[in-house]
Amino acid sequence: MISSLLDYAASYHGKREIITRTVEGPIHRYTYADARARAAQAANTLVKLEVSPGDRIATLAWNTHRHFELFYAVSGLGAVLHTINPRLFEEQIRYIVNHAEDRVIFLDLNFVELAEKLVDRFPTVEHYVILTDRSHMPETSLPNALCYEDLIADESTTFKWPEFDENTASSLCYTSGTTGNPKGVLYSHRSTVIHALGAAQKGALDLGCADTILPIAPMYHANAWAMPYIAPMVGAKLVLPGPKMDAPSILELINSEQVTFACAVPTVWTMVLEHLQATGGRIDSLKRTTIGGSAVPQSMMDIFREEYGVTVLHLWGMTETSPMGTVATQTPDVAALPQKEKHNQLAKQGRVQYGINIKIIDKSGALAPRDGETSGDLWIKGPWAARCYYKREDVAPLDADGWFPTGDVATWDAYGYMKITDRTKDVIKSGGEWISSIELENAAAGHPQVRQAAVIGIYHPKWEERPLMLIVPTKAAAPTKQEILDFLSAKFAKWQLPEDVLFLDELPLTATGKIMKTALREMYKDFSFSGDSGPS
Ligand code: AMP
Repeated sequence: MISSLLDYAASYHGKREIITRTVEGPIHRYTYADARARAAQAANTLVKLEVSPGDRIATLAWNTHRHFELFYAVSGLGAVLHTINPRLFEEQIRYIVNHAEDRVIFLDLNFVELAEKLVDRFPTVEHYVILTDRSHMPETSLPNALCYEDLIADESTTFKWPEFDENTASSLCYTSGTTGNPKGVLYSHRSTVIHALGAAQKGALDLGCADTILPIAPMYHANAWAMPYIAPMVGAKLVLPGPKMDAPSILELINSEQVTFACAVPTVWTMVLEHLQATGGRIDSLKRTTIGGSAVPQSMMDIFREEYGVTVLHLWGMTETSPMGTVATQTPDVAALPQKEKHNQLAKQGRVQYGINIKIIDKSGALAPRDGETSGDLWIKGPWAARCYYKREDVAPLDADGWFPTGDVATWDAYGYMKITDRTKDVIKSGGEWISSIELENAAAGHPQVRQAAVIGIYHPKWEERPLMLIVPTKAAAPTKQEILDFLSAKFAKWQLPEDVLFLDELPLTATGKIMKTALREMYKDFSFSGDSGPS
């Protein structure tokens, strides 16, 4: 049961703290013992609201202590916590609330306006609970808006967490879905607890009670990468950044709370590192960060290691894999390699841990050899990988042997390290050869004047598709197209180089902070190349 994680923390690490930058502003501090008491009060409140096991209870909330309490109160009593990504389009939010048939929405103050806009289109929602105290309750047109602190105040601080089948659903997270409606990934108590055990183990994220963990990844993106479960499971201090995701606020928390471990997508770290370098700031307490969600450029890993003494653990995963699929930690063989080779190895997406299995199927339908070169479709199987999508019998993802198709293209090597070369739909097919958009993007990101880079395939009359590179330069100065091509020529064959390079002020991002290639393809759908440098 998920409730056992918080019970353990409250009983054996009862004084360890959870720190929150609240939506109201001030820093809030309390302990795991306090969190268990308040999760019990929240669970008693849910019972009063007539929430039953199996009901879907939604949140529109940042990473805060109140959201953490709901992770335990809702799942603990057997209901399903549906964490809504507030950055989805309004139409997608309408769709998922109705698809999940949410009965209650718990929401932060800064999402009240969003909910007010959509309220008429949420017929299943009976209660709106605003995650604040009486003095901050806003004027709102939400029907029967309730105040969280008022609701839980008089409830008992004990709750007998029920025990039930471990396969019972515990939480629900919809993937952002670049085409079609978002799909709901349903986690169970079993998958959640086993994933937390797997992710915390030494060969993976290696987390323990000496750590202070800062999940910058939001609780609505694959449950903040399981940190709200792992931190209590190991008795780590937990630091929750609330709504302030700007670089100075994140850095202030890292330093004031002496954070040792953080997790975030690369776009967040690009912003934070830029700020650090511009201000000469330090992050001396931070020892390790796991980065995933999209590929981590090697240049980012180098800066972290060489300038700040931070080890990056490159993680590949999906909402569908809870999210940890692979993580690039060192094996003794890799540790013994010369520095450069070792760093190349650790820039890959990593190795599987006990519990998970992957396979790569090449173009011919055969198992790809572990040569680090042959790419193919990546499949995954294990106790924390999804089996199906919530109420979507029309999409049956698993093959006959229970493998889940990730939609990613990858290679694997003799050391057991997997490397993502592309999303299946992002691979650029140029004259029968494949060009990896990720490899071009990562290489370009290593240029000192490049802030972000994206590569998409554009129709070409002769070669079918050719790569178009889009670059956001750093604030300092913009490189020229020729400088970029010269820089890339050291690593790529001529036919793999971008056919053209364009410069933009910003790139469109998805609701989880990734570069939105679908939007780029739409923006450049009428673009045509003048040159001709495909494979010869
Ligand atoms: P999501 O479920 O929204 O987090 O998206 C999962 C997808 O993000 C994966 O299928 C990959 O395409 C991509 N992804 C996640 N981690 C990485 C990584 N480390 N490198 C490259 N792509 C990644």
